[in-house]
Amino acid sequence: MIQENLKKIKATLPNNVTLVAVSKTKPVEDLQDAYDAGQRVFGENKIQEMVDKFDVLPKDIQWHMIGHLQSNKVKYMAHFVNLIHGVDKLKTLKVINKEAKKHNRVINCLLQAKIAEEDSKFGLSFADIDSILHSDDFAALENINVAGFMGMATFTSDENQLNNEFSSLKKFFDKQKEAIELSNCNLEILSMGMSGDYPLAIENGSTMVRVGSAIFGSRNYN
Ligand SMILES: *Cc1c(COP(=O)(O)O)cnc(C)c1O
Repeated sequence: MIQENLKKIKATLPNNVTLVAVSKTKPVEDLQDAYDAGQRVFGENKIQEMVDKFDVLPKDIQWHMIGHLQSNKVKYMAHFVNLIHGVDKLKTLKVINKEAKKHNRVINCLLQAKIAEEDSKFGLSFADIDSILHSDDFAALENINVAGFMGMATFTSDENQLNNEFSSLKKFFDKQKEAIELSNCNLEILSMGMSGDYPLAIENGSTMVRVGSAIFGSRNYN
């Protein structure tokens, strides 16, 4: 089932869109199944769970951390994580930078923008992102690269609202991409869209979709 789901979803994705298979809460057998069908990019939302899976699965997997970050746990994934999606504080960027430096790496990060109307979601306002990217503190971080932005839309079936939320981030992304010239900020990735809304996110310029339940089936928790 997993392999069929993957195949169906991949067939609908434009070439420039990366599929992150969100495997949180799923057993390693399920990830191996997806891997055997050619999937190489996986997303997890808990650092310890991602580390446990990294340890036992093939080493050419790219691991994305998509969950809200606890700064004190960044060190456990600093040697292998490929992309951290949910960064919503300058302080967290500093922690990631420090841990990346210990491993002589540059860690790619996405700043999480708050685009949803509902206020339970994490994320920075556009103004906050703008001021982080223009701060001296940010310019001094040599072991991170802000590779783009991530956004989560409101949980709704209202397509108008989803379009508005996704397109607002796309507009902001394009403006920043044009304006920013910093060696540690190269805006290429716009991470928007989940199982329920990824086709709309792609219509609105997403280059990376995070799809869990549509591949692996529904989760019992999380
Ligand atoms: C769980 C999760 C997803 C995937 O959600 P599905 O609806 O199962 O596709 C995507 N992004 C984030 C940040 C998540 O936590």
